[in-house]
Formats: sequence, C-alpha cells, structure tokens
Amino acid sequence: MKFNNVDFDTYFKNYPDKDGYFGKYGGSYISEDLKKAMDEITEAYFTICKSGKFISELRRIRKEFQGRPTPVSHLERLSSSLGNVQIYAKREDLNHTGAHKLNHCMGEVLLAKYMGKKKVIAETGAGQHGVAMATAAAYFGLECDVYMGAVDIKKQAPNVARMKILGANVIEVTDGLQTLKEAVDAAFTAYAKDYKNSIYCIGSVVGPHPFPMMVRDFQSVVGIEAREQFKEMTGELPDAIVACVGGGSNAAGFFSGFLNDPVDIYGVEPLGRGTAMGDHAASLKYGTEGVMHGFNSIMLKDEKGEPAPVYSVASGLDYPSSGPEHAFLHDLGRVTYDVIGDEDTIDAFFALARMEGIIPAIESAHAIAYAMKMAKTMGKGSILVNLSGRGDKDMDFIIENYGIR
Ligand SMILES: *Cc1c(COP(=O)(O)O)cnc(C)c1O
Repeated sequence: MKFNNVDFDTYFKNYPDKDGYFGKYGGSYISEDLKKAMDEITEAYFTICKSGKFISELRRIRKEFQGRPTPVSHLERLSSSLGNVQIYAKREDLNHTGAHKLNHCMGEVLLAKYMGKKKVIAETGAGQHGVAMATAAAYFGLECDVYMGAVDIKKQAPNVARMKILGANVIEVTDGLQTLKEAVDAAFTAYAKDYKNSIYCIGSVVGPHPFPMMVRDFQSVVGIEAREQFKEMTGELPDAIVACVGGGSNAAGFFSGFLNDPVDIYGVEPLGRGTAMGDHAASLKYGTEGVMHGFNSIMLKDEKGEPAPVYSVASGLDYPSSGPEHAFLHDLGRVTYDVIGDEDTIDAFFALARMEGIIPAIESAHAIAYAMKMAKTMGKGSILVNLSGRGDKDMDFIIENYGIR
C-alpha cells in the first residue's frame, strides 16, 4: 500500500535508514563517546536479531515467562452502552508486570546479556518501565539502576517498592520538575560515565538510534498478534485502531502490524487540563521540530527552546516529545494524532472497570476514552484499542484525587 509516496510494502526495510532517520526525524545527536557506544549496540542488535538462537530464546521467554500471546477481548457491554460500533481491546494489561513494557525490556536485557554487559541503566516515569527493567534484570541476573523523579516516586509508591523487591537500585532525581524528563537526563549522564560495563535501556521509542527502531521492533509482537487475533475473531480487519502515545512505544508496536492495511490509525495524546503550555503533554499536536535527548522529533518547547514543562494525569504520558517515527507518520498523515483530556479519561477509567471488569492504567484509559468518543460518531464498524496496561499502580492516586464514583 502506498501512502503519500511512502511504500508500506517495503516500509520496515527503509525506515529507519542506516543512520536512524524516519524522513527528517530520528538520528543520533549525542557526544562522540556515546555515539560509539550506540554504534556498538546497533551492530550487536543487527547481528543478534538475525541469530536463530536469539530469536528462539526471545520467543520462548515471551511464551513461558511473559504469558504471551495476550488475548484480544470484545468489550461488548461498553460497546452497546455507546451504540452500534464494536470496541475490542488488545490486553497488554495481562502481559507479565501489567503493561506492554516488558516486551522491549526482555529484548533489551537479552541483548545486554549477549553483549556481555553487567549492568542495565534505565529511567522511569510511572514506574512501569522501571518495574519491567528490574524484572528483566532479575530474570537474567544483571545489576539494575533505575532513575526516577522525586515527584513520581511519591505518586507511584507501589512500583518503587516492586523495583526494590526485585533487587534494583532506585535513584531519586530532584532536578527541575522531578519527573520523567529529568530522570532521562540523569540516566543518560550515568550511562555516559559507565558505558563499557553497562547498557542504557530506554523506556520508549525515543532517544538516539538504534532505540526508536529497536524498541519498535521488540514491541511489534503486539501488532502482529493483535492483527491475527482480530481476524480470527471477526474474519476481517478493524476499521480503526487506537493507542495512547507518551514516548510512543505501545503505539509504535501496535501500529506496525497495521500500517500496510486499509485501517484508520489514531494515536492519542494527553490534553491534561487544557491547551495552555504546561497543562498538557500533546507534543505531536502542539509541538514543533527540535532535538532533545539525542533525537530529532516534534517537541514542546518553552521560550528558550528548551523542553517545555508538561502535565498529564498519567505519569507515563508526561513527556515533552514523542518518538521520531510518530513525527514521521504524523507529517505523512498515515496516523492521525489527536488528544483527550483528564475528565474524559477518568470517566473511561471507571466505565471500563464497571462495564467490563477491567481496571486500566490511566495511560491506557486515554485510548479507551478516545475510542468511546469515536464510537458515538462512527455509527457502525469496529475499533481495536491497545490496552497498554493495568491500573493497579494507579489505585491510590485515583482514590485520593477522584474518590469512588
Ligand atoms: C509507559 C506506559 C505508557 C506510555 O509509554 P509509550 O512509550 O507511549 O507506550 C502507556 N501505557 C502504559 C500502561 C505505560 O506503562
């Protein structure tokens, strides 16, 4: 399928190019030392991902440890409460550790093991990436340092405890807004000092090449499974698919299975409290081109051109940019990036819990909320949502801020 001169039959061969570019986005804007370290990771990845041993080990881990494939569920009661459109969910909440993140973490740490690294370094926002990294590190017997903003540490206490129980060191970051962006900076700095022994495992499809590509590839299992499962259940493809976009890893993997299909694709960003700078984290909707954290993409900037302060009710979505592939698909028009606010998200959170018996992560509730809104206007058809994670981690926050509705 061709779309604005990009041939999606051969898309994965051509994007990213050998320097990590999706069109003008991506690349690696880092120091020479770090560039060398990244080149080493890229080379190892290209060698290892063709090795039968690596592929079969990853496949076995996914099946026997992670519990894949995760199912697709038909959300029948939610759908009928909205009209005739049928909504389905790909259940990444049922992936081990409760979110899609373990899909790329197991891949990244398996790669680290093949490269002979002793330690993995990571940053975390909601704590989900930290927990997934700590889990993967425990599984493979590697050391694990997780950098986390002080604000997120308070908001996500259960995940902090989980990481510690799994044997990881949680390192508090007290710079700036004390959330995800500062944690990324701190993790980068630590990695630059110790790249011989360690590997930096980025939590999303962001950062310098090869991470946007590698994380997407590891996450593509979600899209491949979902497409097959949906076809088996219904005999056709969904009319539309929806995923929430923070850095964009769950969306990138999910979308990758459908890019070459006649399916409308929607990425949902958090509108938070509104359109004013600092009240949302909708980088693709309101941002402009720029470089941060080692890659060129679309980002939210302040007057000085620095990454802007961002807000989302979901810790995992409050990042001032998104992966370069999303910026590319945005400009191309292949994916529609739109927004949903806090109120609709919390309504969707309770709707899914009450009508389907599924408590979603607040991140994932953004995608559910958007699908619910679409269902009301579409009239007929089907929507497949990527339910990126479960909401256990958000219980205290919801009770404290919204009560029981
Ligand atoms: C981290 C997280 C996200 C956001 O990250 P992406 O890289 O945009 O996928 C979404 N949902 C859940 C459950 C998460 O833990």
